[in-house]
Amino acid sequence: PSKSRVTVVGSGNWGSVAAKLIASNTLTLPSFHDEVRMWVFEETLPSGEKLTDVINRTNENVKYLPGIKLGKNVIADPDLENAGRSMFLCFYGTDANMLVFVTPHQFMEGICKRLVGKIKGDVEAISLIKGMEVKMEGPCMISTLISQQLGLNCCVLMGANIANEIAVEKFSEATVGYRESREIAEKWVQLFSTPYFIVTAVQDVEGVELCGTLKNVVAIAAGFVDGLEMGNNTKAAIMRIGLREMKAFSKMLFSSVKDSTFFESCGVADLITTCLGGRNRKVADAFARNGGKRSFDELEAEMLQGQKLQGVSTAREVYEVLSHRGWLELFPLFATVHEICVGRLPPSAIVEHSERIPKLS
Ligand code: NAD
Ligand code: 13P
Repeated sequence: PSKSRVTVVGSGNWGSVAAKLIASNTLTLPSFHDEVRMWVFEETLPSGEKLTDVINRTNENVKYLPGIKLGKNVIADPDLENAGRSMFLCFYGTDANMLVFVTPHQFMEGICKRLVGKIKGDVEAISLIKGMEVKMEGPCMISTLISQQLGLNCCVLMGANIANEIAVEKFSEATVGYRESREIAEKWVQLFSTPYFIVTAVQDVEGVELCGTLKNVVAIAAGFVDGLEMGNNTKAAIMRIGLREMKAFSKMLFSSVKDSTFFESCGVADLITTCLGGRNRKVADAFARNGGKRSFDELEAEMLQGQKLQGVSTAREVYEVLSHRGWLELFPLFATVHEICVGRLPPSAIVEHSERIPKLS
């Protein structure tokens, strides 16, 4: 029987952990080739060495996941087009290929453009990316971008998954969202599951992806509350209002979104962990402590060593959708987060504006 070959496109903090998880499974599961290719956006380290060379020599992503061995069967590759050729074309007709997309969402449009026409054969995709694009026609989820640009069926995997905790194998859960084929979803579940990483599949790709995307906006709000030292009750209130806006926004965009998805790991659990321990929360906390005087770009560069925030750009994208559709009044928390991020309102507006009782049932 043919074996599947897995390629991970992306090698940041979560991308590296995803490669580690997958590589531990491909070694033992007979239906997968052992080797996992990981595309690396190449950069030169302060030592003068290329990041890819260091990953392949030390088996560690020293910049984005220091101190963690990825597994000897993870091979870093700096050339996306070459990766496309060698990984997709030469196995055409014999092997199925599985593509895992896990980059910050703002880079995906460019990556898809570079891969157009290079992916052939029996290829399944999954996106671990939390974010969306806004086009003239309206919002476009990243899995849809991948499907449309590359002609691939694309599942999603989202969950309460702070990468550094999974890297040291602490127990957590995740949710795979799929559109039609339960069989394909089960293959992804098999590829990612370990005793410490429990994956469940639900037939609600939009719901799962919107949960992962929108909770980053709520996490920015939670960070403001922390930075202003407003306490746990306020933070819980902001999380509750945020969850309600997440659900309403998702259902207004896609009527197929299921209520039950918000109770999966991708929903309330991811909201909680990100509002407690995520990067969006952390940088928003610093933004509020500085009274909004230092920009998110500046704080991100200073605090995250090359890692990227998703919540600030997602707040802008959500705001665009809300204003195009005349929904701004219905989503005071989402709208206020964006207004604060761009300096039109002070951080304290997060409660003053959100407490206008949203007109959502
Ligand atoms: P990250 O935040 O560590 O981002 C850095 C990555 O972006 C690096 O690999 C860097 O090389 C790459 N990069 C920089 N400039 C680039 C460019 N111009 N083109 C392409 N790549 C470029 O990345 P991450 O943590 O792996 O996050 C990827 C996605 O996974 C995001 O959508 C994030 O929300 C999601 N996610 C992250 C976590 C987490 O804890 N880190 C957990 C779950 C989901
Ligand atoms: P941050 O990007 O805020 O760190 O969130 C990580 C995450 O998505 C946890 O599931």
